[in-house]
Amino acid sequence: MTELLNNWENGRWIGQTLEVENGVCAVPQKPNADALAYTDEVKAATDHLYDEVSDFIPKFEWSAYAVLVHAINKLKKEKNAVVLAHNYMTPDIYALVGDFKGDSLGLAIEATKTDADIIVQAGVHFMAETSKILCPDKKVLIPSLRAGCSLASSITGEDMRLIKQKYPGVPVVTYVNTTADVKAETDICCTSSNAVQVVESLGVPKVIMAPDEYLAKNVANMTGVEVIAWHGRCEVHARFDADDIKEMRAKWPGVVVLAHPECPPDVVAESDFTGSTKAMTDYVSDNKPKNVVLLTECSMSDNVAMANPDVDFVRPCNLCPHMKRITLQNIYDCLRDEKHEVKVPKRIAKKARRAVQRMIDLPAPGKKGHFDPKAVHKDIKII
Ligand code: SF4
Repeated sequence: MTELLNNWENGRWIGQTLEVENGVCAVPQKPNADALAYTDEVKAATDHLYDEVSDFIPKFEWSAYAVLVHAINKLKKEKNAVVLAHNYMTPDIYALVGDFKGDSLGLAIEATKTDADIIVQAGVHFMAETSKILCPDKKVLIPSLRAGCSLASSITGEDMRLIKQKYPGVPVVTYVNTTADVKAETDICCTSSNAVQVVESLGVPKVIMAPDEYLAKNVANMTGVEVIAWHGRCEVHARFDADDIKEMRAKWPGVVVLAHPECPPDVVAESDFTGSTKAMTDYVSDNKPKNVVLLTECSMSDNVAMANPDVDFVRPCNLCPHMKRITLQNIYDCLRDEKHEVKVPKRIAKKARRAVQRMIDLPAPGKKGHFDPKAVHKDIKII
């Protein structure tokens, strides 16, 4: 076992480069709705929707979107299906076909409440697995099997078993951005909304946090609990740095900078506010800053901008190539054909459900979900 552990420490994967196809990073695709006709019925049913997305979709392209929006919304009714749309979905998906919208915690909770027979997860694979873990009797579909996550792919269940051998008795907190077999090896899950609260809820002096190194460091800065971290990174948030913020402040004096806790700690220290996807959304709605920049995924800014037309958004952001695998076209295809069903073996799902449910059963985190830019930085052990 020592050899294996040494191998991890010396040679293991850290992060993941952007996936590139034909030399081009994955970006949102325009719909290909050739088989569907833009009839009078479609026009009458969708015309009123255009205003919501007019900042993002040129009028001359609208008919191609409208036929898919109409077809998906019809299929949802026929099949008693819902679309759970993550905040990082493009505005056409988020605003026009999403039945429930939110971050990973919010969507996981919505999954437990719906009485739909089919859940289409407009998000990445670990989110669909989480829905399946919580709703074993429902059919859960993912529009693209290639919608992964650099954090989820940074660690396996076998890695987790070896960590637990190395640190016997130390509770394991894993971010929901993990596969089901990792969750199954976990004491409790967390999201970026509740990570500090989850760590402190255990009432222990030391925890292991996986897989996001930066989230673990940011949590460690906010709590007296000792944190041992795995070395995974979100390839979207890890790319921001403190110099970016200084440049933004010089270029747009007075801009309010909001960061996600998957960003490095020096970014958190330079920002005005750091919190989960939901906390950032609430910050903008509650405070209505004149100028704001969201250091996160690009579509998140678009979706928050739609809800806050009176706020000016500065747009340096990073695209998540995995989230951008989900399109209106493949949502339509997967719902029409009921394909790409996500399954989790019962034995793994049962263990994973315990860890997710334990997190859901905690009270709402409130301000515990915010990260203080002035928090004193601590050195933590990275494995
Ligand atoms: S934004 Fe980061 S954490 Fe979220 S799915 Fe993409 S790679 Fe994973």
